Amino acid sequence: MDLKELNRMTENLPSTASMPVLFVGHGSPMNAIEDNEFSRGWREIGKTLPKPQAILCISAHWETRGTYVTVMEKPKTIHDFGGFPRELYAVQYPAPGSVWLAVETKNTVKKIPVGFDQEWGLDHGSWSVLRQMFPEANIPVIQMSLDRTQPAKYHYEIAKELASLRKKGVLILGSGNIVHNLSRIVVLGNTISDFNTPFGLDWAIEANDLFKKLIDEHRHENLMNYRTLGSAVQLAVPTPEHFLPMLYTIALKGDDEAITYFNDKPLAGSLTMTSLKIDKAV
Ligand code: ZN
Repeated sequence: MDLKELNRMTENLPSTASMPVLFVGHGSPMNAIEDNEFSRGWREIGKTLPKPQAILCISAHWETRGTYVTVMEKPKTIHDFGGFPRELYAVQYPAPGSVWLAVETKNTVKKIPVGFDQEWGLDHGSWSVLRQMFPEANIPVIQMSLDRTQPAKYHYEIAKELASLRKKGVLILGSGNIVHNLSRIVVLGNTISDFNTPFGLDWAIEANDLFKKLIDEHRHENLMNYRTLGSAVQLAVPTPEHFLPMLYTIALKGDDEAITYFNDKPLAGSLTMTSLKIDKAV
């Protein structure tokens, strides 16, 4: 199948009502296999969604120089973490890829050239969440990478261009953690599940509350300039990759849409699982 044929396929897709947009705080990879309040939150939100034609995931765990989309028939499940139980490494998420969505994404984004990648697959930012949200693994998934060389505004502007995909039945899913500082973790307890014990240091809670306030007040410029938001935010976002996927999702919010938060809890002192869904206001 050549590019022209793929382009014709995507042009002929029926226009649908806008799919909701999700940002998910993914936290520990163990959420992929544990039944806990966060994985239950993912399953519950999954049940509220219309069935997507395909999923475009922007994960904190795929950073590149330049912006790429995965273009492959069968993306591999990448176990991009260390020190977890063997059963987690045995997990496969065998969702198909989507060549048409990769092509459609490349054609939709005009500001920059989007490259095709045939090496990546699905990292745990994607599959740990999707395994709970869409356990049948029968919806095609692609990932779009984060260009590590670019500022927040660049990511936000690319995201705006993705809006038309929503009308083609595409679920856009950002996966990160808006408060994420692994060097400040405080784990209460001894087991791997204790990581999820709700607990937030003062600065983590302060930053999380500020982010929600700025999101609710549509102060996207302030969020893009998060480095100027004070010491709590400096601690909450020591590196941008877990924060940026949230910017990709709020950039897609329409004026007639509302934001619903879920899994809005701190854990391990220095992370928050705060997640949001953007959908038509009711
Ligand atoms: Zn992560």
